[in-house]
Amino acid sequence: MKYISTRGNFGKIDSAEAIKLGMVPSGGLFIPEEVPAFSEEAIRSLIGKSYCEVAFEILKVYLTDYTEEEIRQCIDGAYNEKNFDDPSMAPLYKLNDSAYIMELWHGPTAAFKDMALQIMPHFLSKAITKVGSDNEIVILVATSGDTGKAALEGFKNIPGIKIIVFYPHGGVSKVQELQMTTTDGNNTYVAAVKGNFDDCQNAVKEIFGDRRFNEYLVQNGYELSSANSINWGRLLPQIIYYFYAYLDLTAKGSVGFGDKINFVVPTGNFGNILAGYYAYRMGLPINKLICASNENKVLTEFFETGEYDRNREFIRTNSPSMDILISSNLERFLFELTGHDGKKISDWLYELSTKGSFTVDSGVRERINEILSAGYANQDETLETINEVFDKSGYTVDTHTAVGIKVYKDYAAKTGDKTVTVIDSTASPYKFNTAVLEALEGPDSVEGKDEFSILDELSRVSGTDIHPGLKNLDTKPVKYDKVVEKEQITDVVKEVLGL
Ligand SMILES: *Cc1c(COP(=O)(O)O)cnc(C)c1O
Repeated sequence: MKYISTRGNFGKIDSAEAIKLGMVPSGGLFIPEEVPAFSEEAIRSLIGKSYCEVAFEILKVYLTDYTEEEIRQCIDGAYNEKNFDDPSMAPLYKLNDSAYIMELWHGPTAAFKDMALQIMPHFLSKAITKVGSDNEIVILVATSGDTGKAALEGFKNIPGIKIIVFYPHGGVSKVQELQMTTTDGNNTYVAAVKGNFDDCQNAVKEIFGDRRFNEYLVQNGYELSSANSINWGRLLPQIIYYFYAYLDLTAKGSVGFGDKINFVVPTGNFGNILAGYYAYRMGLPINKLICASNENKVLTEFFETGEYDRNREFIRTNSPSMDILISSNLERFLFELTGHDGKKISDWLYELSTKGSFTVDSGVRERINEILSAGYANQDETLETINEVFDKSGYTVDTHTAVGIKVYKDYAAKTGDKTVTVIDSTASPYKFNTAVLEALEGPDSVEGKDEFSILDELSRVSGTDIHPGLKNLDTKPVKYDKVVEKEQITDVVKEVLGL
């Protein structure tokens, strides 16, 4: 399997090189040249298999330049009971007769990013050997909260790789900050930046684009790479759980083999839902992928009108991991739907960067509507949904998952579609504890409280245990307390690398 650029501006390369590069150096994202299809029989033969076995069958058709043994090593290093607190990795909870919740937050950091970031560092570390680079890889991450910790956990102690995370000082929750600053490992580093997330992101992007600095790094034996969802190595592992959910439902007799199901995906950068689209293209019986957004509903409007328009106010919501106006992975989706028209994609993205908007043609819109439906929920609806789900079933969901549930309810009411539906649950309720407790107990229950007492109270009210990744954070030693000006980010990189 070879990988090509969405903008037709790069040669065909192997998966190891695509994963090592992260993205196309001259702009564009790597995608597989063709989508491997599984026959009905091949899918049927996976029923009853473990998460790791399903993972193996999927990864090996994409990572053809890795040996089967290497792929198994990656899987075993990621999906095990040390990293995940549920033996099935992604268990389903039955919400009602037609809807299931897929819990994707049983990894070490309590958000679904672990499903990919636990395995991607293994792909990358093997890619470095395969591509034959002597340089040590330095992963730079700018984070608004979730990605930073998931990347630190995934990359810590991986040989040949260092990871440096920058987060906005005062811009993340206390729990998120402590998750990052108490990280152990011999190759991790964390710094707070005086500024907002955009300042961190821009500074990191500038470093990636600074040719002289990159040459200087190479002279000293270092090379930069990226750990966010523009990297194919992060997208690929997410295909696994779409298959796993379907196989789980057929194994239990909840759907007949061959019957189609829907997936609802709380969406930000369009990575998770795109993995669902690849599962569909591989032959998984999917009726509709339902894209759920919060008040930053640029995608909902795009799928309604065909116009992507980022010229709007950025809204800070109670589902912050979906607060995003530029969904990077949409580029891959559109490349697939235009039949690999790199010229069209380049033109649209050029319009997006100059005017802030672009409009797709009606043919593309029709193809989108065949598989995709979209909706959004506002912040009050999100809190109401958390409350309603708890009242009806005694089950506690986080804000991002609640957006998905609300959008599904609207979809089912509007279309009358009774197809069995799986809603991706992207974070543990404990990760967004303050909003969740407020939804369950009212604003007074969180007013003036610190997050640790909120965690305890949420545990009492919901009758569940605090997620292991968020326990005892207040007693772990803080390893990193550096606060820097945004102009000092390059100096931090140099200092960490001893340059
Ligand atoms: C990252 C994230 C999302 C959005 O996922 P995308 O792949 O960017 O669409 C949704 N929910 C949570 C909790 C996340 O951390």
